[in-house]
Amino acid sequence: MKSRIFFVLPLLLLTVLAQGCLAALSGAETFVPVPELVVLPAQVERGGPARALLAGLPPEAAAEGEFDGKKVFFFPVEDVLVGLFGADVMIEPGVKTLKVAWTAGEFGGELAVEVPVKDKTYGIRDIKVPQKQVDLSPEDQARAARERKLVEAALALQTPVKLWTGNFIEPVDGPINSSFGRRTRLNGIMNPRPHAGADYLVPEGTEVRAPADGTVALTGDHFFSGQAVYLDHGQGLISMYFHLSRIDVADGRSVKKGDVLGLVGKTGRVTGAHLHYGVYLNGARIDPPAFRQMTTRLVAP
Ligand SMILES: [Zn+2]
Repeated sequence: MKSRIFFVLPLLLLTVLAQGCLAALSGAETFVPVPELVVLPAQVERGGPARALLAGLPPEAAAEGEFDGKKVFFFPVEDVLVGLFGADVMIEPGVKTLKVAWTAGEFGGELAVEVPVKDKTYGIRDIKVPQKQVDLSPEDQARAARERKLVEAALALQTPVKLWTGNFIEPVDGPINSSFGRRTRLNGIMNPRPHAGADYLVPEGTEVRAPADGTVALTGDHFFSGQAVYLDHGQGLISMYFHLSRIDVADGRSVKKGDVLGLVGKTGRVTGAHLHYGVYLNGARIDPPAFRQMTTRLVAP
């Protein structure tokens, strides 16, 4: 045992000395940044969130990326740049490429990393609603089309500044009923679009709280979503709250994490009182509870 320690110690000393010499040598030259790009998790699930970590750049560095045709914004956390992105719930599984362009003073470059997107089985649910909420009258069709335009504009927001810090909290405490991503059999007919949010089974009147800081992008009483609130958290991150019985915020207002947005209800196309909570990341519809989890460990594996 003793001889081993005597062997290791001089080796450590040599390593430290060698590193010191290298540092002294490089100090005389210009520092050329050599960034490293890592994606976590290494395999992304359909409907799942992911983050790109860009390390090895000086503090003034900036970066911008693209994944699945969608923009990826970066922001600094500790000494790395973090870019959040998602694999849309209807993405075609397979190997995709995340491209990142970075700048740091006079330097800049591009990086790419392959991101395997694997399929995920979310299951099927059966829902029965009045048939007039499935076969819409011409008036209801026109109304739904008008509302879709307003919603699309809110979802397309890409406010350059990140408006939230820390981690996301749950908008309500309560059991999650229907998981994100499930296909819906509506009055016996399969809906081609999967459920793009998480449903929380909580009583009518429960307060709905902002999970993070943001700005109210849109409020309204919509045919399908009922009384709805859309929050813009900046950098293309939008969250939404449907079927409310009351809305307590106005368009354009800034909200802080924990502020009451309204009350749980059963407005719009529903079978009963619940909160529908959705998270869109630059157009990618992702699992809200999985996104919240990710915000608690942005730079950790
Ligand atoms: Zn829902």
